[in-house]
Amino acid sequence: MDKQNSIHVTKSYLPEITEYIEYLKGIWERVYLTNNGPLVIELEERLKTYLNVKHLFLVNNGTIAIQIALKAIGLKGEIITTPFSYVATTSSIVWEGCKPVFADIDSITCNISPKAIIDKITPDTSAILATHVYGNPCEVSEIKHIADSHKLKVIYDAAHAFGTKYEGKSIMEFGDVSTLSFHATKLFHTIEGGAIITNNDDIAHHVNYMRSFGHNGPEDFWGLGINGKNSEFHAAMGLCILPKIEEIINDRKSLCRLYDSLIKFEDCGIERPQKLEGTTANYGYYPILMPDENSLLKVVKNLNAYNIFPRRYFYPSLNHLRYIDAQSAPVSENISRRALCLPLYNGLEKKSIEFISKTINDTLRR
Ligand SMILES: *Cc1c(COP(=O)(O)O)cnc(C)c1O
Repeated sequence: MDKQNSIHVTKSYLPEITEYIEYLKGIWERVYLTNNGPLVIELEERLKTYLNVKHLFLVNNGTIAIQIALKAIGLKGEIITTPFSYVATTSSIVWEGCKPVFADIDSITCNISPKAIIDKITPDTSAILATHVYGNPCEVSEIKHIADSHKLKVIYDAAHAFGTKYEGKSIMEFGDVSTLSFHATKLFHTIEGGAIITNNDDIAHHVNYMRSFGHNGPEDFWGLGINGKNSEFHAAMGLCILPKIEEIINDRKSLCRLYDSLIKFEDCGIERPQKLEGTTANYGYYPILMPDENSLLKVVKNLNAYNIFPRRYFYPSLNHLRYIDAQSAPVSENISRRALCLPLYNGLEKKSIEFISKTINDTLRR
């Protein structure tokens, strides 16, 4: 295979260009490009319905979503978080002047362990910031119980969890706030973008003004704000993609089933992160856990030789970030050395999945 045909862990979904152009025509007619325009408002309304939540604020990326969420709740001191996530989960805490305290993960689900959370609670703890890793729900009931009994807020970095359901409910209904990323590489995207979700009116009020410089009309300010707004052009992309989301998820599901049937898990010593019972998955990622880092590196090398680029989500474990005081998280360190996300996107060809699976089997079969 040549460079042109290189296969990455994901490939952005694009709608028919004609559909996008229809939205562009409307933008040209209105000459209303940004600042909470009609397409932004329409996308927010449709997302609230799809995700079954009271308040949803579109912002310009998933990182500012986390930062504004932390500010809107007024968090200070220590925030207990997962070391197994994308760097933005931790960096947002540090950026907002709080201290990330890592609770180790569960080796079966790869999500933050409720037991480990309890061990990390101190008088300075103000909140728990957990990630639904690979779109698999955290143990939301246990986490709520812990948070309620210690008066802590709960924020979910739900960047991976668009469309995930747990016990029949939208996963966005759990926690005080959930944040989403609509980056081009995500299951549902607006090129760049994100959202802040809450069912709490007071938090919603703060989020609303904070994402728009703090404005209360043109000549007054509610309080401190930043520029977290998103544009009509980004919302238009979301409006094109949202009606296709069930189709997108179903396509991915069948690709996942193909990997399931082709990879010789037992023979290769490969495991998969397990979902909680009661989860309806969104098939956003296809993670596998290799027997050890050496096996992972061999597989990556053999795939790279054919221009196939899986990604090590997540590596390194975030407790190793240079700007954070050393903290231990042995399970996360172990999992992050072994976790690999295989290519998964709409339009990925069956023969590519067959080739990737065969390469893995041939590299590792004992
Ligand atoms: C993508 C991602 C983010 C960051 O979102 P951006 O829109 O790229 O800023 C944060 N957390 C997780 C878990 C992510 O996957």
